[in-house]
Amino acid sequence: MKYQTVIGLEIHAELLTHSKVFCSCSAEFGGEENIRVCPRCSGMPGSLPLFNRGAAELAVKAGLALNCKINNFSAFDRKNYFYPDLPKAYQITQFNHPICSDGYVDIGTKKIRINRIHIEEDAGKLIHDEKRKISLADYNRCGIPLIEIVTEPDIRSAEEAKAFTAEVALALKYAGVCDAKMEQGSLRCDVNISIMPESSKVFGTRTEIKNLNSLRSIGRAIEYEFSRQKKLLESGERVIQQTLHWNDATGVTTALRSKEEAHDYRYFPEPDIPPMFITDEEINTISKAMPEMPSARKARYLSLGLSDADASLLIADKALSDFFDLAVKSYQNPKSVASMIIVEFLRHINDSGFSVEEIALPPADLAQLCKMADEGTVSRSAAKDILKQMLKTLEDPMEIAKKENMLMSNDTSAVEKTADEILAANPKAVEEYRGGSAKVFGFLMGQMCRTLGKSANPAIIKKILEEKLNS
Ligand SMILES: [Zn+2]
Repeated sequence: MKYQTVIGLEIHAELLTHSKVFCSCSAEFGGEENIRVCPRCSGMPGSLPLFNRGAAELAVKAGLALNCKINNFSAFDRKNYFYPDLPKAYQITQFNHPICSDGYVDIGTKKIRINRIHIEEDAGKLIHDEKRKISLADYNRCGIPLIEIVTEPDIRSAEEAKAFTAEVALALKYAGVCDAKMEQGSLRCDVNISIMPESSKVFGTRTEIKNLNSLRSIGRAIEYEFSRQKKLLESGERVIQQTLHWNDATGVTTALRSKEEAHDYRYFPEPDIPPMFITDEEINTISKAMPEMPSARKARYLSLGLSDADASLLIADKALSDFFDLAVKSYQNPKSVASMIIVEFLRHINDSGFSVEEIALPPADLAQLCKMADEGTVSRSAAKDILKQMLKTLEDPMEIAKKENMLMSNDTSAVEKTADEILAANPKAVEEYRGGSAKVFGFLMGQMCRTLGKSANPAIIKKILEEKLNS
């Protein structure tokens, strides 16, 4: 029997606030364990939460970026459970009244609906020391503001799940809501997955795979879980509703616990935080201040004359796209700048393993190099060498060109003299060319360029060589 997969995602994204959501501890990543903890985020009795309004603003931005309705009224609830990474033994979240609802993301082939986005606090992190057979708790992450983006079960394949997650990550990055560094856990994904016969309309029993932190793991975990569930059904067994852990090293899912239902958490309204009201004016103000989103940026690039492929490639990396925009500000030739970035700059970046930000090349310098190549100040091949040097030393392209003697000479007398010498030394080639063989022209050009070096202007060489051969 043929089965189809039904997938819903829950994406947790850490908000880029400076401080935590219910206290003033710093929300930064990394560093020594348990240094950013206070009585509030460690759940000391008697401490009261104080809501960070900045988190609400970022959640509204996320809602706008993901085409959601922003709710004027939202409220916090307590989700009660005991686990060592949660010192309060409850998590403050929005259960009944989320801040955003009814959105969607267009992944190109279809729209995936978003049921809701709600604000909640992150839990701490457990570090399991296999050697000493102990587990340690790091509470630095406790109380970092998160949004949880919950989709409708609209996704039908691993490819669609990956495309959706990538689109969400990009939109949140552009909106300045989350840095979406999956490898650092600032964006993680829970996958709800069930399978049903292709002709069926009734969903099967679902399992939930927790905390996937790369697009690759999302894809692999879905493929694995699909075949596991299919095998069960085909051998007459049932799928058990449960929460699973994906092991990237072994490539299998294992059961964490039987799946809990909402009533297991004994949700009740958070008594220490008043409900939140956001007025239409406030939503409007945030909406007006929204930065340019990827789809708008792509449309702008197309209007500048860039190809669809080049525009898509640039917007896929916000830092690269920002770099392009700044470079075009200094030299208004978008096609030329895009070509230099995509063909040359990107190749070096990929080879180096560093990001655009880490390389720190001033965009204006790349723009200047483009202009120098376009105007014939240096040859195209010299421009490539200059860029290589710029990435190493961050020197000005003109300085490098001068130092390396790469400035193109427009002095025709040296070219004329060399052409005479080369034609005299290759009478056979000259004869063949005049007899109608255009092929030897390339050979003669090559001889000229080699003799004259990088400072020679290929356009001038070509012109003079043609004149002499045709005279
Ligand atoms: Zn704190």
